[in-house]
Amino acid sequence: MSLTQRIASIHQRIAAAAHRTGRSPTEVTLIAVTKTHPPELIREAQAAGVLHMGENRVQELERKVEALADLRPQITWHLIGHVQRNKARRALELADLMHSVDSVRLAETLSRIVGENQTEDRKPETEAGRPETRDPSTARFVSLSNGRAGRRPEIPMPVLLQVNVSGEASKEGFDLPGGVANEAGLATFLAEVEHILAQPGLAVQGLMTIAPYHPDPEQARPTFRALRELRDRLAQHFPQVSWHQLSMGMSDDFEVAIEEGATLVRVGRAVFGERT
Ligand SMILES: *Cc1c(COP(=O)(O)O)cnc(C)c1O
Repeated sequence: MSLTQRIASIHQRIAAAAHRTGRSPTEVTLIAVTKTHPPELIREAQAAGVLHMGENRVQELERKVEALADLRPQITWHLIGHVQRNKARRALELADLMHSVDSVRLAETLSRIVGENQTEDRKPETEAGRPETRDPSTARFVSLSNGRAGRRPEIPMPVLLQVNVSGEASKEGFDLPGGVANEAGLATFLAEVEHILAQPGLAVQGLMTIAPYHPDPEQARPTFRALRELRDRLAQHFPQVSWHQLSMGMSDDFEVAIEEGATLVRVGRAVFGERT
């Protein structure tokens, strides 16, 4: 199968999974996970109609964004892996949505940097006698220190909170095994979320999780359901925030994730083949 055929087949499977639970396929966005793959292949995927790309490491994201700078306005870049705090500044310039805010400290760091960028951004304009703030809607991209185009780093960063609801030890994210059923853990998590929501510069849009690997995708269903139930609880508890996005489901289990409410599926191997 060609790349175009594989993409078409995934779109069909997404639509079928959505219809099975009375959802519209337009509620689900395919993110092609491009880690390890060369820019030329990403270009092909973009030409075949995939407009959302996911990378799990900041440095690799940087290489791809730069190699595909001409496509920057067309592609939405998703950062889906753990971000070290010393890479937070670069992550803010490169990513359009960060799925992997997995600690209060990272959220605080991101918030502080966005705030610094806002202050720096205003200085020259004030001196030039122009208005203190620019309308963020006028341009999403600016010239960065390296001369290349990047996301305007002073705009509040859209983020998802990554939660480990499965309890698998190797998984990153806020630890909440069992989700809302875990009463003690839930109280702690709600307090952490409240603290994060009070940080300026972050636009929380929902949750992300990674299900434990299992050859039978049905085994992932409880994890996906737990994330949706947690999202519903957060929406009740913090109604000022849109908890719309549920980033869950990968090559082996994206259909089950869609049946359980996924709005963003992160699919690598099923689009591009095995990684080497
Ligand atoms: C690699 C990766 C994916 C895609 O995995 P596939 O099994 O190739 O579909 C999804 N999410 C995250 C966080 C990843 O690192």
